[in-house]
Amino acid sequence: MTIFLKIIQREIPADIVYEDSHCLAFRDVNPQAPVHVLLIPKKPVASLDELTEDDAELCGHLLLTVPKIATLLGLDGGYRTVVNTGPHGGQTVFHLHIHIMGGRNLAWPPG
Ligand code: 5GP
Repeated sequence: MTIFLKIIQREIPADIVYEDSHCLAFRDVNPQAPVHVLLIPKKPVASLDELTEDDAELCGHLLLTVPKIATLLGLDGGYRTVVNTGPHGGQTVFHLHIHIMGGRNLAWPPG
């Protein structure tokens, strides 16, 4: 079981900023920007690579939820979304998550 599933199941604490029936968003424990939130599906999909056509509606819901969270968190000046995938992508937790980062000017390109 991943640490994110434990957060969904309230087995470990997290600073939750948004929740609905399909997804959960909470602050990253090691923030890389003044605002750094992780948006995750409640369905335990390991990564983008594990998605199937059956997940199309879920994917749409996740993307449509991003700007709602950005508004909730006051990210008026814009924000960065990142989905790390696999070891070369820097993924460390194998439960799909969208990083939402903002609150300062973010450099490009990353990493
Ligand atoms: P990844 O490297 O897989 O793209 O991102 C995983 C993220 O999860 C990292 O930014 C890391 O700081 C965050 N993280 C890992 N464990 C925990 C935890 O127990 N609680 C919270 N809130 N974030 C975590």
